[in-house]
Amino acid sequence: MAIPNKATFEKVIKVLQKSMRIQDWNIGIELITSKELVNKYPNEADEDTQAISNRNLRRNYALISINTEYFCDEDENWYDTLVHEMLHIQETNYITTSQAYMSKNGTYFETIHEQYIDTLQKMFSNICPLEKFIKDNPKIFEKEDE
Ligand SMILES: [Zn+2]
Repeated sequence: MAIPNKATFEKVIKVLQKSMRIQDWNIGIELITSKELVNKYPNEADEDTQAISNRNLRRNYALISINTEYFCDEDENWYDTLVHEMLHIQETNYITTSQAYMSKNGTYFETIHEQYIDTLQKMFSNICPLEKFIKDNPKIFEKEDE
């Protein structure tokens, strides 16, 4: 399906927050172009970056920025990407601690870490693929008003 609008994203996030047990987080979403994403996160993003979640651990606030251009032609990937970013939010507590320790020890932490999140995302999307999510939450996608 085509990439949803902001209001629909917000509803999807609410449901996923429950599944992932991260209701204590306040999660915002913005739909932006790849150029805007790169301007905002010059060190993290390039033109092909699908999304970035900026987390503030002290305030339990996260802002997910979605590169809408990335999803122009593709179906369904927005959901996998959203699950991926929300897993980053879920792991924030844990990862902040281990990052500080492991980066000191010169490991390939970032790579291993992204592989781990990808594995979790595939597992999650397998247990709850978009089709099932839509079936379980039909009201969310009823019709979007712009
Ligand atoms: Zn990631």
